[in-house]
Amino acid sequence: MKERIEDRDLSLLFDVSRASNETKLDLYLNSILEGCARWFSASGISVFIREDDSDHFVLSAKTGADMTVPEGAHLRAGHGIAGACISTGVPMIVQDPLDNPLLVGKVQPRTDIGSAMVVPLITPESGCIGVLNVSRRIGEVEFSKHDLAQATPMARHIAMAISNARLFAGVNAAVAETRAANEKLDAIIATLGVGVIVTDAFGAVEQWNPEAEIILEQELTRGTHLHQIISKCPGEMKSSVAKALRKACSGKKFVERAHDEKTDKAWSIVSSPLPRGGATIAIQDVSNHEKAIKELDRVKRLAEIGQLTAAIAHEIRNPLTGIRSASQIVQSAPGELGEFGRIIEQEALKLNALCDDFLDFARPLTLHFEKLDLLEILQRVCSEYEKTADSAGVRLRLMMDSRASRVKGDLMRIEQVCRNLILNAIQASRNGGRVVISLQRGKLVVEDEGQGIENEVVQKLFTPFFTTKANGTGLGLSNVRKIVDAHGWQIKVSSKPGSGTRFEILFQEQKAA
Ligand code: ADP
Ligand code: MG
Repeated sequence: MKERIEDRDLSLLFDVSRASNETKLDLYLNSILEGCARWFSASGISVFIREDDSDHFVLSAKTGADMTVPEGAHLRAGHGIAGACISTGVPMIVQDPLDNPLLVGKVQPRTDIGSAMVVPLITPESGCIGVLNVSRRIGEVEFSKHDLAQATPMARHIAMAISNARLFAGVNAAVAETRAANEKLDAIIATLGVGVIVTDAFGAVEQWNPEAEIILEQELTRGTHLHQIISKCPGEMKSSVAKALRKACSGKKFVERAHDEKTDKAWSIVSSPLPRGGATIAIQDVSNHEKAIKELDRVKRLAEIGQLTAAIAHEIRNPLTGIRSASQIVQSAPGELGEFGRIIEQEALKLNALCDDFLDFARPLTLHFEKLDLLEILQRVCSEYEKTADSAGVRLRLMMDSRASRVKGDLMRIEQVCRNLILNAIQASRNGGRVVISLQRGKLVVEDEGQGIENEVVQKLFTPFFTTKANGTGLGLSNVRKIVDAHGWQIKVSSKPGSGTRFEILFQEQKAA
């Protein structure tokens, strides 16, 4: 007979807290079986546990003579002695298993077993979740009712430990799943491109993503109140974003657009209350979107202005022809009158050029391509402006350091481009200044030593109607850009305020096209 264990050891053995999850459950069951084997002086003990919700019970722990039971062995409810015990839920002693009618002819009985106790593992929630088999060899003392009375509460403990371990594993799996879902959500929010802040019911920050820190231009910390965040927002942004965030504190759903005139930045702010108090606030930088809408408005307005100016220019041109003819007659008169006639014709010519600019701006371009000699064109334009340059004290210099001065383009339009660039350069120059027009490899350069252009003005140069001159139209460069684009060329400006400006037209683009 095996050594009996003390009562104290037994209570330690059944400390179910030791079976806290499925891995520990295996260790716990093995140690419990060994303890029980010693307690009952049993030759073998095994535990079968129900597989999910099926009526299959799989071997989960074994010791002593039961070590011979193969791994993965299973029982079915209603079959054999253990199966009958599972079905009825009643513990039983089997004194002579070889003769038991439940086994005879059905399964291969174990010839080494003299008597056995079969005890169901029952929990209040799930009913029978397993079965405990305790056996003694032939020739050993048979199990008594007293043994069965002790085995029954032990089985209840084992059932509870198994049930706890399963619950614990279920909770662990749920926690792991929630953690994974949270991590996924965090990753999504972090890459949204929208700043997200989550606050509690009192307006204190609970969560945020990196984009929120970028938009609000500050580092956020957990527990900071929205009011503090607002007070740290930079300059003008403060008032517009503050207004929107303040509404969010009240926990109401709202959509707001904030705009800062000074930096021309715009934000779309959406706040939604959370079901258990607090709110999520999503802030998106929509500056580019707003700019695109404004640009679209501007283009629409320009199209309308274009139609109007074209109509007016057209109406002015007809009477101008009359004025010019009349002025030519007046010019033939002697003395002062003839001089007045010339002035009238010059002014009429200016007005006519202005009308041309307006009409060019309004009309779509149609180009008539031909092979052109740029040098010839430049020489002609330079001689046209010689007088204007002279009277402004400006020297015009035409240089050519490339033999290739031939391009394919529209003669009238290219003349117009050259005229605009050269006239602008003369107008920007100081008395004594120099304007150099050069034909270099693949490009035409018009350079002056004039006042230069401030950086922020450079962006506006090609915008229709942008002018800094008292009687300028602001259409010259806008038409130049239109013509250069239509030829598939490129125009570049570089300028140093106070020391001069350089316009370049690059012809290479056309070859690539
Ligand atoms: P306008 O000559 O009628 O003003 P443009 O479209 O030709 O219209 O030019 C727009 C503006 O660009 C000018 O008013 C001037 O401020 C600036 N600009 C153009 N060319 C030069 C230059 N070479 N140097 C300095 N400023 C220039
Ligand atoms: Mg001009």
